[in-house]
Amino acid sequence: MKISQRAQQLQPSATMKVSAQAKQMIADGIDVINLGIGEPDFETPKNIEQAAINAINAGKASFYTPAAGIPQLRTAVAQRTTRDYGLQGLTAQNVAITTGAKMALYSAFQTILDPGDEVLLPEPYWVSYSEQIKLAGGVPVSVPVDESFKATTADLETKLTDKTVAFVLNSPENPTGVIYDQQELAALNEWTKQHDLMVITDDIYGQLVYNGASFTSIAQLGDELDPRIIIISGGSKTYSMTGWRMGYVVADERLISKISAFLSHATGNPTAVSQYALLEAFTGDQTQTEVMRKAFEERLNTIYPLLNDIPGFELKVKPQGAFYLFPDVSEALKLSGIATSGELVSRLLAEAHVALVDGSAFGVKNHVRISYATDLDSLKTAMARIKAFMVQFK
Ligand code: PLP
Repeated sequence: MKISQRAQQLQPSATMKVSAQAKQMIADGIDVINLGIGEPDFETPKNIEQAAINAINAGKASFYTPAAGIPQLRTAVAQRTTRDYGLQGLTAQNVAITTGAKMALYSAFQTILDPGDEVLLPEPYWVSYSEQIKLAGGVPVSVPVDESFKATTADLETKLTDKTVAFVLNSPENPTGVIYDQQELAALNEWTKQHDLMVITDDIYGQLVYNGASFTSIAQLGDELDPRIIIISGGSKTYSMTGWRMGYVVADERLISKISAFLSHATGNPTAVSQYALLEAFTGDQTQTEVMRKAFEERLNTIYPLLNDIPGFELKVKPQGAFYLFPDVSEALKLSGIATSGELVSRLLAEAHVALVDGSAFGVKNHVRISYATDLDSLKTAMARIKAFMVQFK
């Protein structure tokens, strides 16, 4: 048997691993509350499910589709991006539909990176960016940032080399929930322009913003989409469609035609039935998205104070988007004598029956990620369990 060096270096997704472990414990009859998962707990809205059923009944689900998706959906994404981002001139040729936003990102890295090309990733960064960049032959370069969790041009400058070709920006950010404002984005945009860097903007949480915060994408600063900028998004988070695997890339049409060629070999096409579901998500009734957004907002507002009340857990800045909290647990480690945040996460799972993710999976020590994509009662119980676990050390 032979396993390639590339595969040997590959680590499974830490967030998916924790979730699988928690699910196994639940299956074994243990009352675990899973806050490790980055997945909305709502069923996909009924109108979206019905559109998929209709597509099956109409015989539309049986066959291959074009590699970059059905024209109606590509057009719907182009129109939606035109409307939401205020960008002129976008057409279906600027859009590729992909198997989840994960494949959108992967196809983008495959299309822009040559061997040894460096990509800047502000810490903390989502687990799959670094692995996907390596799989595409690139080199992920993590960029330390201060406790605001927002990268500045000064931060990025420290890691800029003549091999740097791109920068990944995720706002609202997984795992911190921070949102970059227009001024911060303008500075980053100017700096990337000066250094002729591509910008991959992962906007998947763009509609999940709370308490009056607003979302701006770096892609919407000009009147037209800058050819250096690649927008990534999808249906998983906003429409609670994780299982449907629907994502997309919006970019310059020359890039999209290469992404389409890549997809034609990698996936053939995104699943046909899911495309009809996303088409309904984009063009149909939007009532449920607001219901879900409000539920996340209420959860955030409820658990943020409960979290800060846990001995040794500290989160100075209240998140404004996505559905995660990323507290500093340095004090909790000191109090408990537990050596690392990874060990703390293991102890909390084994003893308090709460699943979290170790911050080092996102490139940052002494932090944990808590997902609040779970019902309010479970969240309150989980906070009480973590508090009870920590109080024993006081
Ligand atoms: N980008 C970020 C920042 C995410 O958190 C996730 C999912 O957790 C994705 C992309 C991938 O989403 P999808 O389920 O559409 O592949």
